[in-house]
Amino acid sequence: MDPFASARRLFLKRISRYGLSLALLAGAKPALSKSVTALTGIRISQSAEDHTRVVFDLSGGIEHRLFTLDDPHRVVIDLHNTRESEAIDINRKSTNLMRGIRSASKDNGRLRVVLDLKGKARPRSFELKPDGKSGHRLVVDLHATKLSPTPIITSQQERKQRKKQFIIALDPGHGGRDPGAIGKKGTREKDVALSVAKKMKTLINRTSGYRAILTREGDRFVSLRNRVKKAREAEADIFVSLHSNSFHSPNAKGASVYALSLRGASSEAARWIAEKENASDLIGGISLDDKDDLIASVLLDLSQTATIQDSLELGSDVLRHLGKISKLNNKKVQQAGFAVLKAPDMPSILIETAFLSNPAEERKLRNPKHQHKLAKAVFSGIRNHLKNRQT
Ligand SMILES: [Zn+2]
Repeated sequence: MDPFASARRLFLKRISRYGLSLALLAGAKPALSKSVTALTGIRISQSAEDHTRVVFDLSGGIEHRLFTLDDPHRVVIDLHNTRESEAIDINRKSTNLMRGIRSASKDNGRLRVVLDLKGKARPRSFELKPDGKSGHRLVVDLHATKLSPTPIITSQQERKQRKKQFIIALDPGHGGRDPGAIGKKGTREKDVALSVAKKMKTLINRTSGYRAILTREGDRFVSLRNRVKKAREAEADIFVSLHSNSFHSPNAKGASVYALSLRGASSEAARWIAEKENASDLIGGISLDDKDDLIASVLLDLSQTATIQDSLELGSDVLRHLGKISKLNNKKVQQAGFAVLKAPDMPSILIETAFLSNPAEERKLRNPKHQHKLAKAVFSGIRNHLKNRQT
């Protein structure tokens, strides 16, 4: 066993999250033998109020490093072995999130580009290879952490204090005129989900460093979009949607955990379940519109893959803990296009705790003691995940 393997894995995970290219980490060779890459253009666009994209046009592939600085907020991008072309073309210099852009040559052939921000924003970066239309590119996406671009100074202290806490958004599935699945004994999915969510909320709020919010407090209908919106407004770190499954055969059993898939479902069953859960908005009389503003701007955004990766890791931690108290329907986190999991910057999972269509599982789901066990297991999984992410 390699005693450093897990530490190295964590390190790589953290670094890749902050945009340092893995090629650079791999250590490779010093840049001496390579020719210098030219930065020929910078294209800045604002596809949504809270999203700015900066594209760097380059004459070749590069290595880059990205980090953020506070006070005032800025994003620093170091382009290795790169120089600025004399005829560099910049289409604009400011957006809702950015007040300016500047660059300077540094030692060792580095070109440093600084994005001066208007407030706090989360950056993500990725490189693109030539595709016929465009050449090599480095893309930096900025997502506002708050919809208002200008933070209020007096609340900064409070925000800092607050950010020491992890905020977990709990989303009890269905509600109001949408009961969800119904068991033979008449147990309704919406009631079980709310009950487990409330138990989880109590557990979480009792634990220092954690706070829970619910996307619905009572038996009422909330659209899928509004559930995500609520969680975002609370600046939740994690989104957990609670459901229970049903199937035409009473033998189907066990828990499953889902994360978002951008490209098709990982199994036929996953697609079927996603369709069923997404239909919730149709029941509420609001058609589910995937081309919705906020969601559309980011759906095809490659940077979302990082959030999905995080969701998959969160999901397997939760599955592991659920496996201690329940049967598992799938030992692996499944992926499908759940509307409720589409927040771009918040790791999100959907849990089907068990099958209401299975008489034995329906009995368990009705039992407050078992509901408490479920709440505890899911929260343990979440804590596990957040702890691993910190170190
Ligand atoms: Zn459901």
